[in-house]
Amino acid sequence: MRLIVLGSGSGKPTPGKRTSSYLLDFGGCALLLDCGDGAPSALLESGVDPLKISAVAISHFHADHWCSFPLLIQLFHLLGRENPLDVIIPREGERIFPKILEMSYMWRERIGFDIRWHFWSHAKPKNFCGAQITPRGNTHLRGYRPDLFRHPFARMQCYSLEIVHGGIRGIYSADIGRLTDLDDLLTEPADWLLIEGMHFDLDQFRQWISDKKIGKLIITHIPDSRKGEYFVPGAIIAADGMEIEL
Ligand SMILES: [Zn+2]
Repeated sequence: MRLIVLGSGSGKPTPGKRTSSYLLDFGGCALLLDCGDGAPSALLESGVDPLKISAVAISHFHADHWCSFPLLIQLFHLLGRENPLDVIIPREGERIFPKILEMSYMWRERIGFDIRWHFWSHAKPKNFCGAQITPRGNTHLRGYRPDLFRHPFARMQCYSLEIVHGGIRGIYSADIGRLTDLDDLLTEPADWLLIEGMHFDLDQFRQWISDKKIGKLIITHIPDSRKGEYFVPGAIIAADGMEIEL
């Protein structure tokens, strides 16, 4: 299993950096975790055949995690994709999100392949690309609660993902609200943890991580204000284009 960092930026657009997107390459097929700003061009730069992607997993609907999705579909169309694409999103987007493709003229009769929509359900595993993916709802979007009454579609759904493939168990935190969101996923050892580096205090982080059993620790989504700061010994600081054997 190989991780290719397509976009390691935070939510704030930054020169020379793309926003959240990660390719998990399993050899025969690949899984895209989030699809932020610049993901399609980063994918082409990685040298991986985009048509290897059999599923796209969107953790939540902040734009830095999905905004290149219509362009990814356009890329697949222009490359002549015929195989169906599985797309897993939070349930709150069931009615709205597919309309983004409708508005982008990415119509089924034009694009040439089916999109099969799936929806995360807390702790319910799904299987794609030979991997078992189990989502865990987290508190990242809880701060929006006071405004929910104006936005009836919103359910504050954001998911961290456990991904198991070929006996390797990894965790993609996506964005979290607090470190303890990940506790249930880390009661047992993880071969790798790809964790965002923004929504927690560094002292808290060092304390929290100290009793976790993690093989490769990769920190991403680090805001400019935290650039160059020290996390913990041995942590890999993600950069766009980085490839890591997991
Ligand atoms: Zn977010």
